[in-house]
Parts: sequence; structure tokens; C-alpha cells
Amino acid sequence: MALLVQKYGGTSVADPDRIQNVARLVKRAVDEGHQVAVVVSAMAGTTNQLVNWVDEIDAGHFDPAEYDTVVAAGEQVTSGLLAIALNKQGVRARSFQGWQIPLLTEGGHAKARIGSIPADNLKRALDEGQVAVISGFQGISEAGRIATLGRGGSDTSAVAIAAVLGAERCDIYTDVDGVYTTDPRIHEKAQKIDRITYEEMLELASLGAKVLQTRSVAVAMQHRVRVQVLSSFEDKPGTLVVGEDEIMESNIVTGIAHSRDEAKITLAGVNDKPGVAAGIFGPLAEANINVDMIVQSVSSDGATTSMTFTVGKADLIRAKALLDSLKSSVGIERVDADGNVVKISVVGVGMRSHAGVAHTMFRTLSERGINIQAISTSEIKVSVLIASDYMELAIRSLHAAYGLDAS
Ligand code: ADP
Ligand code: ASP
Ligand code: MG
Repeated sequence: MALLVQKYGGTSVADPDRIQNVARLVKRAVDEGHQVAVVVSAMAGTTNQLVNWVDEIDAGHFDPAEYDTVVAAGEQVTSGLLAIALNKQGVRARSFQGWQIPLLTEGGHAKARIGSIPADNLKRALDEGQVAVISGFQGISEAGRIATLGRGGSDTSAVAIAAVLGAERCDIYTDVDGVYTTDPRIHEKAQKIDRITYEEMLELASLGAKVLQTRSVAVAMQHRVRVQVLSSFEDKPGTLVVGEDEIMESNIVTGIAHSRDEAKITLAGVNDKPGVAAGIFGPLAEANINVDMIVQSVSSDGATTSMTFTVGKADLIRAKALLDSLKSSVGIERVDADGNVVKISVVGVGMRSHAGVAHTMFRTLSERGINIQAISTSEIKVSVLIASDYMELAIRSLHAAYGLDAS
């Protein structure tokens, strides 16, 4: 008998029929003799609807604690419905909201972090032979308010709960049957990956592969939780996320991710003297605007230079306004903002020992006439910023160039 955590995403619980299908999958594990804790998302589309209602009333000004109160509601509905479906199928089950566990959060609202999860209440229910059906995405703050973990946060709830329960595995059921070499909805030649390292999955997720929330992978890596990504619609094994020691041979490039969440800012005629970068990036950091890729060009006249960097698309308007206000004090001639960019990244632990990955990327894009606007690299990834119109072409060409195409 093992203790398993299963998580079902929005599409898997999109309507009462699918919830009953999920109940059958849970029942199968229970019938095999396992203890099961199930983490559920809101029914597909529900969280977006709740966010829209908040925005309709007071976009940009609302109290984040009340935002969390509203958006956490979707998961409450699913956990109750799944508990009802399980009991109807003869499986004893009860729902748990974040505050009932309690899943204690830190760091404010809307993107709260998990502080700790006392496991007693969940363990008691499991030991009494019940399935614990847990609302993902939500917890309770230090101030006793409902708090949520950021979009896609049910993945993180599930992995963290698997960690504190010492579960044998955390199965993330979703609408694809595993992690692919690139988003299978963008490229039909994407291939399913049987095993992927925590590190690669962490990079892919943070670079835009939303199949797992980035923080869920970080928690899994830290606590060595075995995670499997698999389909709730098809009965076949998925992708295992594991330590590097469990993978015999790795490809140089494991996957390609894209992110449409970044925007580009170009500063022209910037004073070329010490302290200017601090004068620009200091105020951005103070305004809580994250900067990702940065390129500074060599000064041609010895007096001024230009600078390109990316910020989150959601912060673009704020960043532009802030930089415009710094023009005269810092010495910037022009601030241009461009939201029509996409970041494409190639990821693989094999890059550590193989040269030439970046070169293949640059050559492939140039052969297609795709201009690179910014570059950033780390030990196991290379990212480029390109015009968003070329996104699909870039992904397809790179996928072929690194030998990832399914035959
Ligand atoms: P859920 O609602 O179950 O949490 P998500 O929509 O959050 O599901 O995540 C699943 C989606 O992730 C897939 O439908 C797929 O389009 C997308 N995705 C992006 N990159 C990848 C990838 N490399 N492999 C698999 N799926 C990916
Ligand atoms: N329902 C939340 C969202 O849509 C959390 C999740 O699905 O993981 O972001
Ligand atoms: Mg998700």
C-alpha cells in the first residue's frame, strides 16, 4: 500500500461527467489498496471568469485579499463536487479547503508562497480510510485571510502536500499525456519525453512551458518528490520528473520553450558613464518590475549608448512611464516599448559538456531570416528574443535542427 497524491487540472474537471471520470481514476487507486490525497483545480474557465468579474468592478485598485477570496472559490466548488462523486461511487471522501488543512502561506496575496503545511488533519482523514479531496491554489495567510498561490498554483499545492505526506509519487493529471520536447499544441512533431531532470523541467517551466507551475518543480526538486505528468483522458504512462542520477543518457537539447509574457524596452541616446545602469535598473527594481534579458551596445561616439532589455508584458506600461520620468535625470534620449516579441529558449543538461548549441540556434534562425533582438544564456539554456510573428517558424526550425522531430 502506498500513499499517492493525484492532481487534476481544469480541463480534467471541466464538467460533471469529467469529474465522475476523475472519481473513477481515484477509485481505481483506492481499490488497488492505496491511500489517496487528491488536489483539484477549478473547472476550466472558472478562474478566468472570477478574475474578470473582479476587474469589471475595480481593475487595478482592488484589495488583493478580496481578489484571493473571489478567485479561490473555483477550487472549492470542484473539491465538493469530486467528494460527492466519490461517495456516490462508494469511496469515502471529504473535501478540504486550504484553511481547513491548514496550508499556511507567506508573502501576501495573489502570488503567496507556501510557508508550512501541518499534516495532522490530512493524515487523520487518510488513516480513517477517507480520500482527502483538497482545493488546490489556496491557503490561509498569517493574518487568517484566504490567499492564493498564483496562476497554475494547484501544481504547487499538490507537490508540497506530497512532500509533507511523504507520498510515494505526485501524479499531475492534465490534458496532455506528458511533457513534450515542445508544446504539442504548437508543433505536431513534438515528442513525449519519458524522463526529464528536475533542473531541465525547472528551466522549461520558468521559460514558458506552463504544463507545470515553475514553483511546483522547485518544491519537487528541493524535497525530492517524484512527479509524473500524465493524461486524465488516456490510460498510459506519462513523463517522470526525476534526479539526474536516474537518467542514463541525456540529449544535448531536451526541449524548446516559448514565452509570450515578455516585452521589450529600448533606450536610445543613453549617457555612457558609470552609474547609468544603476540609475535605470534601481528604480525599476524599487517599483517591483523584474528585468530579464539585457543588451547594451558599444558606444559609437564615446558619449552615448543604447540599451535593450525585457520586462513582463503586464509591467510594460508602468515601466515605460517610469523610464520616461527618468529621461532628464539619468540622461536618456528616447524610450521605445514593443510588446510584439516572444522569447524562445532551448534547454538541456547536455549543454554543459557540449559546445555549439548556441551556434546551431543562431545559424538556424539566420537561415530563416529571423532577427535576434536579445540573447541570454545560462549553464543549461540559451534564450533569444524575436518578433512574435516568427514564433512558430522558429520553434519548428529549431526543433528539427536539434533532431527533436518525431519521425
Ligand atoms: P492543467 O489545467 O491541467 O493544469 P495546463 O493548461 O496548465 O493544464 O497545462 C497543460 C498544457 O501545457 C498543455 O495543454 C500544453 O498546451 C501546455 N504545454 C506547454 N508546453 C508543454 C510541453 N513542453 N509539454 C507538454 N505540454 C506543454
Ligand atoms: N485555478 C487556478 C488557475 O486557473 C489554479 C490552477 O488551475 O492551478 O490558475
Ligand atoms: Mg496548470
